[in-house]
Amino acid sequence: MNEIEGIVLYSLDYKEKSKIVYLYTPYGKESIRVLQAHNLKKGLLPFTTTLNVVRYIKSKQEFPTLIEFRLMDSFYDVTQSLEGVHSISFLLKVMERIPDDANHERIYPFVLKTLREFKKGNCRKAICVFLIKMLYVFGVGPEVKYCCKCKAKDISFFSVEEGVGYCLNCYPQENRFAKIWQEYYTEKKEIEEYMDTEYDALMEEIIRYYQIHTEMVLK
Ligand SMILES: [Zn+2]
Repeated sequence: MNEIEGIVLYSLDYKEKSKIVYLYTPYGKESIRVLQAHNLKKGLLPFTTTLNVVRYIKSKQEFPTLIEFRLMDSFYDVTQSLEGVHSISFLLKVMERIPDDANHERIYPFVLKTLREFKKGNCRKAICVFLIKMLYVFGVGPEVKYCCKCKAKDISFFSVEEGVGYCLNCYPQENRFAKIWQEYYTEKKEIEEYMDTEYDALMEEIIRYYQIHTEMVLK
């Protein structure tokens, strides 16, 4: 039988003593019935705890039941700081909305990497990079690789409303996060290598961008 790895998103009570656990896996979202989940002696608590990473075997039914699992990683500690709680709440809201036909095999490791950065204490930078990159998945990524008018690479103004960048020749004004949007969206590297910035203000822009372009309300 095949073992699958997944991240627990949330769980709901099901019938008297059981639960339904919703997970995100490299194959997309999945719901699994966990019989006797409320019976502590069964040791199933780690499978029902949000953000635990588990490897599991399920039954072959259309609505599968958990057969066995092992706990691989846990991000409970991240919730000990306010920053961690906020970052996790943003991450979960976005993950709930990942379209079924998205490229889960690529998204899954990125989510795990982001969670590991949270654990290292890089919550604010990691969640900003995560939210900006995930816009691609929703089909509303910002056009920031080049100036939207003349294709110059050096953009200095970013319009949240239009979702595009401008160079200084095409728009005679600068704003402070244009280069950050460009870097965070287009470059691939380790979290520490991304430029530091004022994360609170950047987050306000990101929240506004999501609201305008995806209608998601992150806050
Ligand atoms: Zn231009």
